[in-house]
Amino acid sequence: MGQVVMDRGAGNVAGSGPGANGHAATKIRSYAPATGELIGEVKVTSADEVKRAVERARRAQEAWGALPVEERCERVLRFRDAIVDRADEIVDLLVRECGKPRHEALLHEVMVAADLATFFAKAAPRVLAPHEVKLHLLKHRKSVIHYKPRGVVAVISPWNYPFQLPLRDAIIALLAGNAVVIKPSEVTPLIAQKAKEVWDSAGLPEDLLQVVPGFGPTGAALIEAQPDFVILTGSVATGRRVAAACGERLIPCVMELGGKAPLIACADADVERTARAIVFGGFSNAGQVCVSVERVYAHREVHDKLVDRVVELTRELRQGDPSAEFVDVGAIIFPHQIDVAEKHIADALQKGASVRAGGKRREGPGQFFEPTVIDGCNHQMTVMTEEIFGPIVPFMRVSTEEEALRLANDSHLGLNAYVFSRDRDHAQRLAERVEAGSVLVNDVLTNGGTPDVPFGGIKASGFGRAMGEEGLREMCNIKHVSVERVGMGSKDPLWYPYTAQSYGWFRKGLRALFSGGGLLRRIGEIL
Ligand code: NAD
Repeated sequence: MGQVVMDRGAGNVAGSGPGANGHAATKIRSYAPATGELIGEVKVTSADEVKRAVERARRAQEAWGALPVEERCERVLRFRDAIVDRADEIVDLLVRECGKPRHEALLHEVMVAADLATFFAKAAPRVLAPHEVKLHLLKHRKSVIHYKPRGVVAVISPWNYPFQLPLRDAIIALLAGNAVVIKPSEVTPLIAQKAKEVWDSAGLPEDLLQVVPGFGPTGAALIEAQPDFVILTGSVATGRRVAAACGERLIPCVMELGGKAPLIACADADVERTARAIVFGGFSNAGQVCVSVERVYAHREVHDKLVDRVVELTRELRQGDPSAEFVDVGAIIFPHQIDVAEKHIADALQKGASVRAGGKRREGPGQFFEPTVIDGCNHQMTVMTEEIFGPIVPFMRVSTEEEALRLANDSHLGLNAYVFSRDRDHAQRLAERVEAGSVLVNDVLTNGGTPDVPFGGIKASGFGRAMGEEGLREMCNIKHVSVERVGMGSKDPLWYPYTAQSYGWFRKGLRALFSGGGLLRRIGEIL
């Protein structure tokens, strides 16, 4: 059979696996989204190769998991150092393969990964240390909680942050004592190869961190190889498939899925700061961010001023090929997102909205969509209710903050949300009522790069948490060891035989321990 090669450029069915003629793809070609130039290709990993990778990872994990956590931290910091030393070449590849601005490649990918490794290498010895839980009733026993590695962690990742997202999960999993197999997105296969190359160049065990490039079926084969834990970052549709496959095999998993972040601009919002936040939060990474500002509910007091200022700032943005010049907004990484953007805009226009800036794909080479502002939107329009994952910010005018809150919560997704108000206490109270995994007041996007706090969604945005102490402990089996503090002799009062006398004692104990009243009355119950 002749070799079937899958392009991941425009018009291809990235994610489905089989090529146009029905044969499984054997290679993925990667093209620069900003220029259309072919920049490299990688081999697709077969199901057998995936299985062997997991077996090798399992063997490598035994020695790694047995190391003291401090030694694992020291080695992960060597990886961090190699990332920092090779930052320029990583940034260059990110700029080419994703068409993202150089600043975003450096700050939101390389810097976030280096910071996360540093933070967790410091936090891990404390967070993973065994600790005692003082039992409220069985005082004669000592309970200690241990955090044990799960084993082999499968990391399945998307294309929008193809360096920091897989490495975020990999670094946290490694520090917890696991081995990691990454299935990177087929849309950005080269950058994951680069991450692996940097790992190997730091002299770290090759089988401990492996990368298995491929399409969806390679991800499915990774789950079939029975890893001990799966973390998927991707779309809701893939989340349903992956969670079902994990459920079938009883593999614990974390789902980091899509978002539809609302931004509530209160009547007293600082218009200039809010406008700048909307432009940055809506167009960073060309809007291909799970926590992008995807819908704005602006109080009528500020609505017009805010839309006008956002439109002005949007028109000032420089968009273009980031490998040729410093630009603010780069290309669309996955060409399918341009079709998605066009559909949302057509639907909104047909239902009465107006495009105030941008609104179309850019002519000429490369995959670009203009930063777009739409106003006059409502919840009949898909642009307000479905994930966009592109550079579009839709506005809806509201009369009260209660209305904004009701609309913000009227969503099947709940990842991030934003509230803007000059009154911080008021904004904080409002934030507590928004249904989302994280809510930022007077800020956008930053929690995606804040390793100290848990990150993740509710509703169809997923479950489980990446980052924070919770994220580190997600990568562990939690083990409880219980030891007696004092010898109890040969017979425990809770054990057999069940007698009328012992029942009487327990009956009295129930009232003494759990009924109301003061100490004397409760002692009286026993006597
Ligand atoms: P996707 O769901 O198409 O793909 C994600 C990964 O899953 C890819 O590596 C893909 O090959 C793999 N995959 C596909 N089918 C599979 C299967 N049956 N079994 C196993 N693996 C399979 O998502 P995408 O288009 O790469 O990324 C965009 C989506 O990711 C958006 O919805 C975005 O909101 C979401 N996202 C979420 C977060 C978060 O932290 N919550 C972060 C970034 C992106």
